[in-house]
Amino acid sequence: MGVTGTGATVWLTGLPSAGKTTIAQALAGRLRGDGHRVEVLDGDEIREFLSAGLGFGREDRHTNVQRIGFVAELLASNGVKVLVPVIAPYADSREAVRKRHEARGTTYLEVHVATPVEVCSVRDVKGLYAKQAAGEISGLTGVDDPYEAPELPDLRIETQDHTVEDSAALLTALLVERGLL
Ligand code: ADP
Repeated sequence: MGVTGTGATVWLTGLPSAGKTTIAQALAGRLRGDGHRVEVLDGDEIREFLSAGLGFGREDRHTNVQRIGFVAELLASNGVKVLVPVIAPYADSREAVRKRHEARGTTYLEVHVATPVEVCSVRDVKGLYAKQAAGEISGLTGVDDPYEAPELPDLRIETQDHTVEDSAALLTALLVERGLL
C-alpha cells in the first residue's frame, strides 16, 4: 500500500474557536486534492448522532471522546486519514484513544491547536464565550470548565501567529515527516 492508502488519526485538540475545524477542513481539501481518502469527524455532527444525549460533564465528555476515537481508529486502520477537530479536554481520555490505536498498530497523532483563550474569546465563532459571560451557559472549556493541554503533542500550532494556510502547511509537514504523505 502506498502512502495515499496509509491511514492515521490526527486529533486536533484545543479550546472552542482555537481553529481546529478550520485547519482540519483546509488540510482535508489539500489531501483530497492529492488523492488521499480523508474523513473529518466533526464534533457537532458527532454529538447530534453518535453521541446524542451526552452532556458536557467530565464523564460524558470522556464517553464522547472514546466513541469518536473508536470510529477514527476503525477508519484509520482501513487506510483513511481521519482528522478529528474535537476539544477532548482531558488528558486521560486522549491517552486512552492513543493506546487503542497503538494496540492495533495504527498511527495516532496529537496536534495542540494552542490559541490562547484571550484570542479564542474574541473570535467566538459560535458565540459561546459571550453566552458564558452573560451567564446563559456554564461549563465552557477553558473558561469555567477544565482544559488539560497536551504536554508533549506531536505538533503545537499557535494560530494567532499564523494564517490558516500556514497552519495547514505545518500539519502537512508533520504528516510528511511521519511518512504518511
Ligand atoms: P474550533 O473548531 O477550534 O472551535 P473554528 O475553526 O470553528 O474553531 O474557528 C476558528 C476561527 O479562527 C475561524 O474563524 C478561523 O478563520 C480563524 N482563524 C484565524 N487564524 C487561524 C489559523 N491560523 N488557523 C485556524 N483558524 C484561524
